[in-house]
Amino acid sequence: MTRPPYRRKQYWNEPEMGWYERAYLFEILRGLAITGGVFLRNMGKWMTGRKGALTTYYPEETRADYAAGNRGKHVLTQRPDGSPQCVACNMCATVCPAKVIEIDAAFDPDDPAHPKYPSRFEIDYSRCVFCGLCVEACPEDAIRMVKEVPNLPSLDRHGMWLGKDELLTWHPLSDVAKPYPGAPARDKSRGPA
Ligand code: SF4
Ligand code: SF4
Repeated sequence: MTRPPYRRKQYWNEPEMGWYERAYLFEILRGLAITGGVFLRNMGKWMTGRKGALTTYYPEETRADYAAGNRGKHVLTQRPDGSPQCVACNMCATVCPAKVIEIDAAFDPDDPAHPKYPSRFEIDYSRCVFCGLCVEACPEDAIRMVKEVPNLPSLDRHGMWLGKDELLTWHPLSDVAKPYPGAPARDKSRGPA
């Protein structure tokens, strides 16, 4: 069977090039002039004591302009008694594309409302891609990401693992909008809380 001749795919935004662009060399020179101009301008600023390119010299400097919606470090939310809201269902670990969440589930017979809890909850930030899928998958709103970024620089990969205690307490958050089983029922006859 003979294959049909190969035809290059035509894109909807295919650029229209005149002879000037097709000659190639002029556009290359124009690109080098733009890049060189930016380089020389920044170098001039540095040599005269002003800051040139908007480069943040991490970790000595940290950006102050992270967007409010930036997906940074994870937080495990707490119940009002400080226990993790997580029920160790493993959905976040299952959906994580980088497979960086490790959870050990345990059983607490003294808490019939939440008998299953994570005895170990760890995230390996050396491989996390900050996609936020773990947050999306959680049925309990037990894991969130805030805009602050983890303090990652380390010569030791083990230092990039964050455990349950830090994830729970570094930025304590509780889901106040969620009704908790076992909370005393409010007496409606006493009016709004
Ligand atoms: S942000 Fe993405 S890569 Fe990081 S732990 Fe969550 S699901 Fe995994
Ligand atoms: S953080 Fe959420 S999705 Fe992950 S194990 Fe806990 S309850 Fe399940």
